[in-house]
Amino acid sequence: MQVLIAEDDIHMQNMLLLMVQSFGHEVFTADNGREAWELYQTHQFPMIISDWLMPELSGVELCKRIRISQKLNYTYIILVSSMSGRKNYLEGMDAGADDFVGKPVDKDELHARIRVGERIISLQIQLEEMSQTDGLTNLANRRRFDEALNEEWRRAKRTGIPVSLIMIDIDHFKKYNDNYGHLEGDYCLKQVSTVLAHTGNRPGDLVARFGGEEFVVLLSGASLEPAKRMAENLRAAVSNLKLRHEYSENADHITISLGLASIVPAFDQNNPHVLISLADTALYQAKKSGRNRVVVFKE
Ligand code: GH3
Ligand code: MG
Ligand code: MG
Ligand code: MG
Repeated sequence: MQVLIAEDDIHMQNMLLLMVQSFGHEVFTADNGREAWELYQTHQFPMIISDWLMPELSGVELCKRIRISQKLNYTYIILVSSMSGRKNYLEGMDAGADDFVGKPVDKDELHARIRVGERIISLQIQLEEMSQTDGLTNLANRRRFDEALNEEWRRAKRTGIPVSLIMIDIDHFKKYNDNYGHLEGDYCLKQVSTVLAHTGNRPGDLVARFGGEEFVVLLSGASLEPAKRMAENLRAAVSNLKLRHEYSENADHITISLGLASIVPAFDQNNPHVLISLADTALYQAKKSGRNRVVVFKE
């Protein structure tokens, strides 16, 4: 684990550094609170061990700033201080510290408290992952997709490089469920998801479950031609699974329809939902014109 130690007393800093390194962690150091705060801006530390009394920015102020900034991942903070006593303890905890270790620092006690922190941090990471993952398919979920779409949208506005979205819907899936049952339906969704996730996934692209039997692929910085190829590859890969579907009206196996839209947002277009509705319109065309095909949105 990466641990940031903030301590203005160089002797003390060095002692903490050696201790925490001996526990097997990668240690970074800051000579005061301000320096720690600056490092925190550029780097995600799961744990900070901070002295209380430091010039420029105290440990308590550092705690307060970190809690207000609310980065995605939690930072576990242990305050170290010779300022013992109930009042100080309460002030530190109220400022946002998770734990408090008195000076002089007992090595075994610090080790135990770091282990407590590690348990909390790993739970937090697990929760964060769960909140972004679809339980059935293990794909990114709708929440993760919405976040990524907003991010991509802002990037596309900044750079003028298009953002592309493929909207995917399984063909005649209601009939699949009605005839083979929901458990088979779930199994089918998992298999389709696996193929979507593994077909030509460039780093930066996001495959997500949009809802029900609908999926989306958000293509980072792809222009129309590569996006079209990707959509066609996805269509072919799912069809090639040859999952039997005797009740489909357009094939004897599971197929998908895909709608693709690719745009550069105008400077005053702040809502990325327009991209979803364009891809949706194209998907509707794909359904209407026979299913198991890719349609690109055209104005
Ligand atoms: P179309 O080709 O026009 O898309 O027809 P369709 O039957 O796929 O469309 P419709 O939207 O009517 O049906 C979608 C079905 O997907 C309805 C529901 O039974 C099924 N479905 C949605 N979510 C799940 C799920 O999590 N598990 C299972 N087993 N079925 C689901
Ligand atoms: Mg100090
Ligand atoms: Mg549907
Ligand atoms: Mg469908």
